[in-house]
Amino acid sequence: MDWFHNLVWHDGKFLGIQWGVWKVIGWLGNAVFFSLFLVQWYATEKLKRVVVPTAFWWLSLAGSLLLLSYALFYQKDSVFILAYAFVWIPYIRNLIIHYRHAAAHLDCPKCGNLCPPHSHFCPACGSPVGEILIKSDRS
Ligand SMILES: [Zn+2]
Repeated sequence: MDWFHNLVWHDGKFLGIQWGVWKVIGWLGNAVFFSLFLVQWYATEKLKRVVVPTAFWWLSLAGSLLLLSYALFYQKDSVFILAYAFVWIPYIRNLIIHYRHAAAHLDCPKCGNLCPPHSHFCPACGSPVGEILIKSDRS
């Protein structure tokens, strides 16, 4: 088992990597970025159509901020810094648009189905929702 021990732990290096706080942050960023592709792939396979789950944008945001901080404070390499300097902007924008859209969805009062924004009738049960419902309530 000596060869195995040398491979895993050698010269104070675990897996040949000199570990420190920033190395952990950098590898955590890599792990988060790797996981988001698995999350998206799983969601797509599950629904049998291409989907981007909300978790994808949260993981993108977390991974890019971890790697940006690693690049800024540890690596201090302009190429690496610029690669992650602005990518978080569309991630945040996508999250804002997603949550606004989700908030604009209407709950069907009859069956509880989540109806698209500005819809007049529930696509599941056909009962009136949104503005039509408010008007019929007044009469
Ligand atoms: Zn309904």
